[in-house]
Amino acid sequence: MGTQQTSAELFQRAAAVVPGGVNSPVRAFGAVGGTPPFFVKGEGPYLTDSDGRQYVDLVCSWGPLVLGHANPAVVEALHSQVAAGTSYGAPTPGEVELAELIVERTPVEKVRLVNSGTEATMSAIRLARGFTGRSKIIKFAGNYHGHVDALLAAAGSGLATFALPDSPGVTGASAADTLVLPYNDVEAVERAFAEHGDDIACVIAEACPANMGVVPPKAGFNGRLKEIAHANGALLILDEVLTGFRVNASGWFGLEGVTPDLMTFGKVMGGGLPAAAFGGRAEIMDRLAPDGPVYQAGTLSGNPLATAAGLATLRGATPEVYAHIDSVSAQVEAEISKALSAEGVTHRVQGGGNLFTVFFTDQEITDFDSARTTDTKVFAAFFHAMLEQGVYLPPAAFEAWFFSAAHDGAAIDRVVAALPKAAQAAAQAQG
Ligand SMILES: *Cc1c(COP(=O)(O)O)cnc(C)c1O
Repeated sequence: MGTQQTSAELFQRAAAVVPGGVNSPVRAFGAVGGTPPFFVKGEGPYLTDSDGRQYVDLVCSWGPLVLGHANPAVVEALHSQVAAGTSYGAPTPGEVELAELIVERTPVEKVRLVNSGTEATMSAIRLARGFTGRSKIIKFAGNYHGHVDALLAAAGSGLATFALPDSPGVTGASAADTLVLPYNDVEAVERAFAEHGDDIACVIAEACPANMGVVPPKAGFNGRLKEIAHANGALLILDEVLTGFRVNASGWFGLEGVTPDLMTFGKVMGGGLPAAAFGGRAEIMDRLAPDGPVYQAGTLSGNPLATAAGLATLRGATPEVYAHIDSVSAQVEAEISKALSAEGVTHRVQGGGNLFTVFFTDQEITDFDSARTTDTKVFAAFFHAMLEQGVYLPPAAFEAWFFSAAHDGAAIDRVVAALPKAAQAAAQAQG
């Protein structure tokens, strides 16, 4: 380890050759200040950085690691696949098994594997447009569906963090077909359909938004979206890239039961490797090439390493695993409120399934505008106090916290023990 560089040294090198020093914006510490640790090892609930510091990880790779880092079954599955080659560019048994598992655990009838959540939502929208022969789409402010051009309007966390209302480089033409509506607002959806009904191909929504912080749908909201879309000949796409196989063995669908026309998955189904999927009714999915005219393809889609990690993860994600994640998440959620209340910090811990976000505001949070009332300076103080005590939280205010089966009593105790000091730091920042 003698020659290993510190995080600060690595960040300096990275910044010289990688824009902002990171390969995905939310990893930078722009929102909280300072420079990010560079990690060299993950083990169960812990991450170790290049400086040799160990943290309890409450990011879990932004959701995928429901079994924790380096889970033995996942490692073993990867080892045996690596020895058999890493990519064939041809069909493999693992793809069939993963597709069958997804079909078994969710309401989709057919599924196409891709490499990222971005690809999944991009392809689902192309398919919805191809199926309906219409061009417009409805998305909601603060809902994030990856960095697809047409979906980068008012897109939540990364953009909220960096105060980019829209992204330069997205043309007027690709944004013009996107109608952005306030989340949880049924009347806005009805008005949009009254005005553009014949042109709307689909409504896309996060099944339970978690990229503007966790802002669950109001009771009946997803069901109404489906009714309104169908009454107007449009499709409903529910994006479960983040919630799928995380909030429940199925996903948000397992908690709410609204069956959309198309669904998107990612994160957990890849078990920490790049894999994602979109699926839905066979009648719609059969419009995809090679059976149908809507083109969609990928050199590494259904990659055998990714399917091996995904299968081992989903097979390991038993009801007991979800019960454990639910329970530790609820425990920490309660302890946070206790610690913040003890210091008189204005806050609101808002959850959806086993996901939650700590908002530093006294407002009720139902959409992007209300989510943005959170005090990001208070979050930054809270974040750094936790980091200093060895707890790695998502480095931005508009994110969910993630737990895993590996977060045992010892790890949770460390998180809880760090809360009082972090609450004091938050109180100071709130002034
Ligand atoms: C993460 C995420 C995406 C994008 O997935 P990538 O694999 O990062 O491209 C899309 N939708 C939701 C809801 C997500 O949380």
